[in-house]
Amino acid sequence: MSAAPRFALGVDLGGTRLRAAAMTEAGKILASEEMPTEANGGPDRILADILRLVETVSTGIAAEAIEGLCVCAPGPLDARNGIALHIPTLPGFDDFPLAAMLGEKLPYPVSLENDGIAAAVAEWRYGAGRGVDNLVYMTVSTGIGGGVIADGRVLYGRMGMAGHIGHMSIRPDGNVCPCGNAGCFEAYGSGTAFTARGRVAAARRRDSSLSRYADSLHARDIFAAAREGDALARDLVAEEAEILGQGVRNLLHLYSPDLVVIGGGIANAFDQLEGGIRAYIAARALPPFRTMPIRRAELGDRSGVVGTAALAFAHAKRKA
Ligand SMILES: [Zn+2]
Repeated sequence: MSAAPRFALGVDLGGTRLRAAAMTEAGKILASEEMPTEANGGPDRILADILRLVETVSTGIAAEAIEGLCVCAPGPLDARNGIALHIPTLPGFDDFPLAAMLGEKLPYPVSLENDGIAAAVAEWRYGAGRGVDNLVYMTVSTGIGGGVIADGRVLYGRMGMAGHIGHMSIRPDGNVCPCGNAGCFEAYGSGTAFTARGRVAAARRRDSSLSRYADSLHARDIFAAAREGDALARDLVAEEAEILGQGVRNLLHLYSPDLVVIGGGIANAFDQLEGGIRAYIAARALPPFRTMPIRRAELGDRSGVVGTAALAFAHAKRKA
């Protein structure tokens, strides 16, 4: 047995940013690097970019000291077999054997995970969820994703696809979701849906400070106007909190977590949403669930690389 330090590599392949990091098992990041995702360059270009970033962050680390590399991407993907099934934001990644393609070029094991699961693991191991056995992580930005830790283990489900919480149905005949179905939680609660409601409302309400933005209105403008007391903006924020509360209420009843962690872009306004989410749960969850804590994610945009590096360590142990 060698006492030499061990490392793992994490890669977060997102629709707009590609990130990589080298990390110790204690969660110390030695090097990290990021670049825009060349989504239209197709899988070949993206694979080349991943290899370049991996080379950069592992400079100076002996290959034998690297336990493995884990890549996360938006689902759905077959994590068990390392295959991207269909990534809506990345054309060409259909039934694509991402882990095997990278593994051919690298001297250590390569695995693939859903990005929601990776972020859940990051918050559980190194962020807001340290020390709990049951955690639901929910990321709200362009879409809604998530991951579940249950009884001290990552909940994978069939093909590693558990935790696609954005596609819970909250209005069976409702708005169309990017997935093609109607009435998904994502179609109402995402930052995209929130902004779209804001634009429609602002166009109708000339008395609101939001009306000057027209179609350039962004979620952060709504939160800023709400802070300044704009009545329409406050209504929009209250509505968003209620929708998120509806999703969290379902998750509490399904998983009985010790903690719900909310990440993604919307977490920047967590202080403005928290009260409304809690109020909804206090009114609508079964009584024993009403006091369940909700916390803001701590790792921000590092959650993908931290979670994947942690998973690369876990995968190496499972194989040992
Ligand atoms: Zn959907």
